[in-house]
Amino acid sequence: MNQYFHNMINGIQTVFEGMSITLASMFQGPATVEYPDVDVRSVDSIRVGLKGKRGYKGNLRGMPENYRGILDVDMSICTACLICMKACPIDCIAITNVKCDKRKLQGKNGKPAAQTRAATRFDIDIAKCMFCGLCVEPCPTGAIFHTNEFEMNRDNLEGLILRFVAPEEAEKASKRAAEIAVEQAEKKAALAKEKAAAKGEDS
Ligand code: SF4
Ligand code: SF4
Repeated sequence: MNQYFHNMINGIQTVFEGMSITLASMFQGPATVEYPDVDVRSVDSIRVGLKGKRGYKGNLRGMPENYRGILDVDMSICTACLICMKACPIDCIAITNVKCDKRKLQGKNGKPAAQTRAATRFDIDIAKCMFCGLCVEPCPTGAIFHTNEFEMNRDNLEGLILRFVAPEEAEKASKRAAEIAVEQAEKKAALAKEKAAAKGEDS
């Protein structure tokens, strides 16, 4: 009998405990943000978003630094080395390249990097991308990186392919590559001629 009353009191007590938490949360602000009215991507916009309105009272700091959002590529430091393309486990990245004039670049961790190739195509299929970051890690110059952007609404799959090389840039690079090939062939021919002439003098 004692046990029966003990269980009953215990049951009533736990119901009151649960209901008191529910009651308290009714008078607190919401624990969620009103996305997309509140932009969670930067501190400033969060402040603006919350200004003058009752809403989330927590400590929002925007997106974390290591957030893996939509990829971006800084083509000015990309060496078209294809490392990121080979690192992608699901073939989201498509790069084609041609020879270009050699230039030195500042690589990641202070290591020097050289550019000998220029991209004529650099596409990333965001529809397939799983934001794993495997392409970002091995990039020698830090050209490919994740942004903190996560919105990319398109009404067709084609629109989800990011293209980082404009057709006119690709054409320019191809033209220059053809010129380089001619220059190299001329140099080779001149060298061969010099060698042949030197051989003739010796004999
Ligand atoms: S983040 Fe991952 S899936 Fe997306 S392109 Fe890079 S390696 Fe491929
Ligand atoms: S690994 Fe980096 S440098 Fe090489 S092609 Fe990719 S983005 Fe460009």
